[in-house]
Amino acid sequence: MARVRILVTNDDGIASPGIHAVATALGALGEVWIVAPDRERTAVGHAVTLHKPLRITKMAPRVFMVNGTPVDCVNLALVKVLPDKPALIVSGINRGVNLGDDVMYSGTVSGALEGTILGIPSVAVSQEGEDTFRFEVGARYATRVASEVLAHGLPPETILNVNIPDVPLRGIKGVKVTCLSRRRFNNPIVEKVDPRGRKYYWIAGTRQSWSRQKDADHEALARHMVSVTPIRLDTTHHAMLDHFKAWEGTLSRPLVSRPRGRRRVPGRSRV
Ligand SMILES: [Mg+2]
Repeated sequence: MARVRILVTNDDGIASPGIHAVATALGALGEVWIVAPDRERTAVGHAVTLHKPLRITKMAPRVFMVNGTPVDCVNLALVKVLPDKPALIVSGINRGVNLGDDVMYSGTVSGALEGTILGIPSVAVSQEGEDTFRFEVGARYATRVASEVLAHGLPPETILNVNIPDVPLRGIKGVKVTCLSRRRFNNPIVEKVDPRGRKYYWIAGTRQSWSRQKDADHEALARHMVSVTPIRLDTTHHAMLDHFKAWEGTLSRPLVSRPRGRRRVPGRSRV
């Protein structure tokens, strides 16, 4: 039987050890292809490159880099690099967590979301850490999640966002299915003065707090548990549709007054 094909991408770039750790581990499940950005593209979100040419460079057998974003990589991989559709896409392992609101900015999560847009079951994997990252721990759990996804599939338009706590393998207390939490940065914009005396700004909070809610992703990590959050592509707020239907009448009122019947031009007869 042919081995399943697995595509791996990331937003930290092809030189990141996280992508190679997970690619090596996933080799136990199938034939792994790496198509990743040529440099770090963290926080590019779901950006797609439209205004410059994209190049694919082969680095080794089944390892390619692209001068684009994670979303570019997934698209090029499926159309131009892989011989056939992969059974699974894994995006990561990211250097640092992607919890709560961060998924809106994350290139790692967007790589997986692009996979599900294109109809491929997809998983995003991120590793908690500071200066060093236990990618070997993340790779073990990424492989376990990947194995489940290959066995059971995923619902349409749904990815799994996996975050691994920064503890040794033996310190992991289990796996928790979670929901996204809300993050709040303290001092989100840092103001400095450059050598020419002009102000500049750096988007970087120094500390962050999380709003409490049941089964929040960040709480799982605080308890040394792996967090697995199902995220759907359709962000329509279905529960609020009826609420906003009540606005339709007001919003539909004419913005310009309608003409009252046809005006007849003097001296002309209707044809
Ligand atoms: Mg990153």
